[in-house]
Amino acid sequence: MQDQIKSIIAEIQAQYFEDDNNRPWIVGFSGGKDSTMLLQLVWYALIEYPAELRKRKIYVVCNNTLVENPKILAYTEKVLDKIQKAAVKKSMPITVHRTTPRLEDTFWVNLIGKGYPAPNNIFRWCTERMKINPTTKFILETISEEGEVIILLGTRSDESSKRASSIKKYGIEGQRLRKHVLPNAFVFAPIKDVLTKEVWQYLLQMPSPWGASNRELVTLYNNASGGDCPLVVDITTPSCGNSRFGCWVCTVVNKDKSMEALIDNGEEWMEPLSMLRDTLAMSRDSEKYRERRRRDGTEKEGTLGPYKAFFRAEVLETLLRAQKAIQDEQPEISPLITYQELVAIQVIWYRDNLFLNNVSEIYQKVYGRTINLDSVSEGIASEKRLLREVCKENPDDFNEINKLLEIQKTKTILMNNRGLHNVLENHLENYIKNSK
Ligand code: SF4
Repeated sequence: MQDQIKSIIAEIQAQYFEDDNNRPWIVGFSGGKDSTMLLQLVWYALIEYPAELRKRKIYVVCNNTLVENPKILAYTEKVLDKIQKAAVKKSMPITVHRTTPRLEDTFWVNLIGKGYPAPNNIFRWCTERMKINPTTKFILETISEEGEVIILLGTRSDESSKRASSIKKYGIEGQRLRKHVLPNAFVFAPIKDVLTKEVWQYLLQMPSPWGASNRELVTLYNNASGGDCPLVVDITTPSCGNSRFGCWVCTVVNKDKSMEALIDNGEEWMEPLSMLRDTLAMSRDSEKYRERRRRDGTEKEGTLGPYKAFFRAEVLETLLRAQKAIQDEQPEISPLITYQELVAIQVIWYRDNLFLNNVSEIYQKVYGRTINLDSVSEGIASEKRLLREVCKENPDDFNEINKLLEIQKTKTILMNNRGLHNVLENHLENYIKNSK
């Protein structure tokens, strides 16, 4: 083991001091065991040299999907702060960068806002939006500033057979770097041949150079009983799936063993999250919760459309209730949904003519206080107020007009005006008949 570590450190040093115009390094850091070992090795490899020789920039990049397991996220955030502070103190050329999905790509904006079903293996819409895209954006921006980059990954051959074959496929015998799918980007995977037990051995023997506790990491793994969810930089990095540290909402796995194990080990405050995840898993293939028509207005035998409006509202309420309970008990835990996401959801609901759903009202119901979202979407909100006003005498008309607006939205794509006219007329006739 000692010799192996020495040889990895020598490789890292050789690559760092290679004369290649100081192409910056981007180290993918997830807070898990592999990326912790990788960054520790990089640190120990470079600290041996005087600060003036450490000229190559090292960007430590950590992606937050905004639906990370809150326990793991709190730990990772703590470690990232320590890394940044220690880097400044020791004059290491390391800076910490956090990436997050774009607002329109977050889990809640898509699921609650647009009604995307909870992801599964067939429709896994989340990985690209929440993991690959934010990191890719960071890499591309760095390439455009610096010309080329080298991405350091903590991928290992024995982590999974799929990853082993990916490393084999893209690695070139005798060369440290392999080409990344992005132009002007190369990949360096210094710990690819290290076995899992050797990772643990190393982490328990070598203290964290930035003053974190590797024992805490071990405990987290023991309590969570999961594997890693490393930084995902391309589709050849299988990160999501089986039991792992990942998004707490993940329905791609049948059971979130990590979260269940954490709850069993005393983190009972996570129970509402586990229940919400189970609700999402249960709802994904049910006609009770999903429209027959897809968002583009088409219908196809055997497939379902987005979640129905009532269910999206229910999920938001359950999520806010979970958030409130957690904030009361664990104030240091980050919110489960951001203000910006709430605004985006409201805007999408209005745009989709789902006037029956109102984020502010749901928020008020849960928190007993208002949240001002209307100022952001005032134009749309005023339409709704007007509609309510004119339907004051007969509130059922308000619901009915909403249904007509929904029909119009979905049918205009498919039909000519005459066809749309007929559908609206039939719908109105039925409504009038039933109200008599
Ligand atoms: S962990 Fe699950 S929810 Fe998160 S990106 Fe991967 S597949 Fe999607």
